[in-house]
Amino acid sequence: MWYLLSFLVGICVGSFLNVLIYRSTQEGLRVWSPPFSFCPNCKSKIAWYDNVPILSYLILKGRCRSCGWKIPLRYPIVELLGGVSFLLNFTVFKDDLFSFVLACLLSSSLIALSFVDLETMLIPDFLNFTVLGCSLVLAIKGDFLEHLISFGVIAGIFLVLKLVYREGLGSGDVILAMGVGLLLTPFSGILAVLTAAVSGILFATITNRKNLGLKLRIPFGPFLALGGYLFFLLERGTGWF
Ligand SMILES: [Zn+2]
Repeated sequence: MWYLLSFLVGICVGSFLNVLIYRSTQEGLRVWSPPFSFCPNCKSKIAWYDNVPILSYLILKGRCRSCGWKIPLRYPIVELLGGVSFLLNFTVFKDDLFSFVLACLLSSSLIALSFVDLETMLIPDFLNFTVLGCSLVLAIKGDFLEHLISFGVIAGIFLVLKLVYREGLGSGDVILAMGVGLLLTPFSGILAVLTAAVSGILFATITNRKNLGLKLRIPFGPFLALGGYLFFLLERGTGWF
């Protein structure tokens, strides 16, 4: 019962994350205004019955009711990711409500910043600092010294990388890496960064196969977020590290 409920709440949060992602990637739009959802193409207001997460996308066959604009697949994907992450968070933290809420705030920020980064190659500061804040509180609740060492090691690695590849690595990536470092302990932190690097390189190899001559330019944020979140769940859920 609680599992289903956390999944459903996660889907609804995912629906809000879509708004957040869209409005962070557009200039002149604020998260809270206008206070209703609208179609990005024809600007018509979306009725509540067309705004039910995932279901509406399926019922409307992925098109806007007013103008027939093709709704990007990102919308149901983000909603589903929201649901799955809340479910996983609940599985790991079902005995600790406070940590569960923090984990949900953390995973939601990671989802949002990943998709903003994919679209704009930038990570909004407010999302990065939410991750950093959640990581800090979760670290204080755990073995703080371990988390501090992990933070130092990973922050050090990324600051050196930033000095070497000035343009290749954004400062948003460096701040995100610090958040991931603080979230994890040294061993899982290193594994998370390695996972991020390997999956990022794999992704770049697959998607850039056709134009090998082009300079590689991929957002690193989503991979860092994925690696960090994965090892966070493993560490807290299994106690392996
Ligand atoms: Zn429309």
